[in-house]
Amino acid sequence: MALTDLTAEQAIAAIVSGQTSSCELVEAHLARTERDVWNSFLAVDRAGALARAREIDALPERPPLAGVPIAIKDALSIRDLPTTAGSRILEGFRPVYTATCVARLEQAGAVVIGKTNMDEFAMGSSCENSAYGPTLNPWDLTRVPGGSSGGSATSVAARQVPWSLGSDTGGSIRQPAALCGIVGLKPTYGAISRYGLIAFASSLDQVGPFARTVRDSALLLQAMVGRDPMDATSLEWPVPILLPDAERLDGVRVGVIEELMGDGIDPGVRAACQTALARVEALGGTLVPIKLPHARYGLATYYLIAPAECSANLARFDGIRYGHRAEDTENLLEHYERTRGEGFGPEVKRRIMLGTFALSSGYYDAYYGQAQRVRTLIIRDFATAFAEVDLVASPTSPTVAFPLGERTSDPLAMYLSDVCTIPISLAGLPSISIPCGLSEGLPVGLQLAGPAFSENRLLAAAHALETAIGFVDRPTGSGE
Ligand code: GLN
Repeated sequence: MALTDLTAEQAIAAIVSGQTSSCELVEAHLARTERDVWNSFLAVDRAGALARAREIDALPERPPLAGVPIAIKDALSIRDLPTTAGSRILEGFRPVYTATCVARLEQAGAVVIGKTNMDEFAMGSSCENSAYGPTLNPWDLTRVPGGSSGGSATSVAARQVPWSLGSDTGGSIRQPAALCGIVGLKPTYGAISRYGLIAFASSLDQVGPFARTVRDSALLLQAMVGRDPMDATSLEWPVPILLPDAERLDGVRVGVIEELMGDGIDPGVRAACQTALARVEALGGTLVPIKLPHARYGLATYYLIAPAECSANLARFDGIRYGHRAEDTENLLEHYERTRGEGFGPEVKRRIMLGTFALSSGYYDAYYGQAQRVRTLIIRDFATAFAEVDLVASPTSPTVAFPLGERTSDPLAMYLSDVCTIPISLAGLPSISIPCGLSEGLPVGLQLAGPAFSENRLLAAAHALETAIGFVDRPTGSGE
């Protein structure tokens, strides 16, 4: 087996048993990363990665992650590495500190090999909003990998790395994981520190892992979870994150979200999810149809709250503190206007305008205030559901990977890509997408979600289902 075919867990075992070294493993992955036909990387740190691998190989005892390489979404700051968030406005920016989650992974022995492509400031569902060109789906190079963490998802599916980090505001880990046929986990809001994550919508943003197995995602979560004094919204984690190993679902009640299994979901996607869900019963669990009456307002609610928060968060890009600056400006206002006009792409400008409008005096309560009230109703829908079931399930994405360019001129069609993931984000709940089959020869993701802090139960169920499904994850159109 090629070194790049190993899961992270297998790679750790191979290093610990002396069959390979961190250097060898990093070198093998760098080779695939430097031949980047998918445009999944924005920066590769060959020298830094190899230096770190050598250090780890020389340690008397291997750290838990043993020197296995990882790729990091370019929304996460890493000291001295180029960090752009997919935007021209941050071109040339090198942060002076490293995000807590990345620092914790490095501490645990992961080796960062580069920064991955993404929709500008994580706004998008296809990775086509990157200022540095789209990432291509390794299953079919004419299709999108999903977004916004499309580069991180592709890097794992294309075996450039065994695992990576993304961020999910409304679906940006789960949806690209589904479209690339891998596992994507968005933890409970607050599980992982956001310190060093370039903010899009702070009440929704969460960092999380991409991997080829549920157990690998659990390993990464284990190393990152918990309170960070630098992020006031991060949480003291109540129990250790366990590596799932159960193969049965005895006694587990899974609620099938009726609103997300009907119209608007492609028949092939629905069929693959239904086949996967039938396995819940074969494994000893029960399926219960459930209703989330306010889920259909999720998209409208999200597209008020997320732009409102982004319009405030992105005010800091003023051409003075970071990255791009307009030249030859006459005064401060012109400097702001020209820097932002030149630096931001069209989707980011659209969001800032939407958000500024929704927050403007006279409209604030009608739009932003109303959206917050509906958010509460959505949260209550989930609370009602979880009185009856342990987990809820739905497709992750209403369609398989769509052709490049198909939705770029129609923002609403693009926004609909996240119709299944957004309600869960608004409620701050943990959620995972696992590959569950193919439709039209392309991967389909099944989404599972649970109450806040139910990560162990969620990972256990996802692992049992993943084992029963036995998805073969080798992309067919990898461009080789
Ligand atoms: N696609 C959604 C958006 O464009 C979600 C993005 C995300 O989760 N970062 O806002």
